[in-house]
Amino acid sequence: MSMQTIGRPTRPETNAVAAAAPEGAKGLLQYEPLIFELGGWSKTGVDLPDVAADVADDLGDLVRTAPIGLPGLSEPETLRHYVRLSQKNHAIDLALYPLGSCTMKHNPRLNEKLARLPGFIDIHPLQPQSSVQGAIELMDRLSHWLTTLTGMPAVALPPKAGAHGELCGLLAIRAAHEARGDARKRVLVPTSAHGTNPATAAFAGYTVEEIAQTTDGRVDLADLEAKLGPDVAAIMVTNPNTCGLFERDVVEIARLTHAAGAYFYCDGANFNAIVGKVRPGDLGVDAMHINLHKTFSTPHGGGGPGAGPVVLSAALAPFAPEPWIVHDQNGYRLIEGREGVAAQAFGRLSAFHGQMGMFVRAYAYMLSHGADGLRQVAEDAVLNANYIKARLGDLMSPAFPDGPCMHEALFDDAWLEGTGVTTLDFAKAMIDAGFHPMTMYFPLVVHGAMLIEPTETESKAELDRFCDTLRVLALDALSAKDDPAALERFKAAPVAAPLRRLDETQAARKPRLKWTQPAAPAPLAAE
Ligand SMILES: *Cc1c(COP(=O)(O)O)cnc(C)c1O
Repeated sequence: MSMQTIGRPTRPETNAVAAAAPEGAKGLLQYEPLIFELGGWSKTGVDLPDVAADVADDLGDLVRTAPIGLPGLSEPETLRHYVRLSQKNHAIDLALYPLGSCTMKHNPRLNEKLARLPGFIDIHPLQPQSSVQGAIELMDRLSHWLTTLTGMPAVALPPKAGAHGELCGLLAIRAAHEARGDARKRVLVPTSAHGTNPATAAFAGYTVEEIAQTTDGRVDLADLEAKLGPDVAAIMVTNPNTCGLFERDVVEIARLTHAAGAYFYCDGANFNAIVGKVRPGDLGVDAMHINLHKTFSTPHGGGGPGAGPVVLSAALAPFAPEPWIVHDQNGYRLIEGREGVAAQAFGRLSAFHGQMGMFVRAYAYMLSHGADGLRQVAEDAVLNANYIKARLGDLMSPAFPDGPCMHEALFDDAWLEGTGVTTLDFAKAMIDAGFHPMTMYFPLVVHGAMLIEPTETESKAELDRFCDTLRVLALDALSAKDDPAALERFKAAPVAAPLRRLDETQAARKPRLKWTQPAAPAPLAAE
């Protein structure tokens, strides 16, 4: 078999070499074709003995006569392919990942070690429950932590993500209304809400109506009161909200909602800012998802499957989805509604009972921090965000300058006025400066929003490195007012990334989702 080079050597020594490098190759970052374009069809990475003739006879007409049609690569080729792909993504293990409302914090390796214990990693959801008592006990203990931290009596573990948790909560709310013969139609959502809130409400069959926001970034109580009515099933409010602010009137919001016979769904994705400090149950919340992959440090962002358990108030607890965990003299059991306990549940949310690997990681994180440690997580996350707000607030314009923020520092684009530089240009220039951009243009209520969430896991030194870089960039952006070359640099950014500026509209509107055989076998060159 002839040797093949996988991808192309891409350490350009001259400009001519650079020009010859395939598009996307930069420095030590390799251009990487798809595995289908790499693999020789007749090649394989393992040596399997020939199948004995009598085995083939036994298989009769089940014997495969054509190649299986999977690309064949040797072990080093396979490893390099996936390592190169992994290097195309930014990762929390590479550097600060300041996406707002995402809580991209460090994932402690201790969690990984525990999630890989054979008793957790080698089990199957259909195994007899008597053989997975430890795993069910862990789910029960995790539930205990979640209900204790939130001050809510029940939790449903099955949801696989925050948005899935929202769906679970709304289905429980609908089941509760229906149990009273009350078919309500509307769900109220503030203008600053994460897109999943209105999407979930619409998916669950509700009409979505917006609640206005006050100039200081909170729910407009007068507008909420005007819109509440006998056909409102629920409100969905994020607290702290996506402007990085605590909803000061949250208790009053809950009172008005309950007085109208509706339920209070709280989007708990920002729980990182208040864990150990405030219990949502004390604020009048009826249902709230907790993103284990945010607050409790299980990997996400291309790195993990997520998990979005939903805590429920006493009013909604009977409507939690199956299965339920019970613990009696016979040990731990997962039971279903037909056994009588959860007779009003809406059924199963998903085939099995949740993301076991995420449960182990989250529980390990809770135990290793303890209740005091979790409180400090919230305090440090808020401190770090306020540090950024203070260090950048004189150059960039904070969207809500008065008072401290919670775990996110939010800037608008007023400070860029007259420079020709947009939020998008600024974010792209951050890539060239070695930092992943912050969340842009969200929340929608803030013009040209730049939402920065450092999390508690960044040191002061790293925060300073980030702020120093952003200050240099900000001064550069301001100089673009009278310096066309500076403006040009922002418009051209990123220049140091494997790919330049992508057409984001095309990518969203006309994504290329299907692989087609390239016309020429381009990246594979025989040596
Ligand atoms: C992340 C997030 C969600 C959705 O969570 P997923 O796990 O991505 O589905 C919902 N609301 C807010 C405010 C979030 O930050």
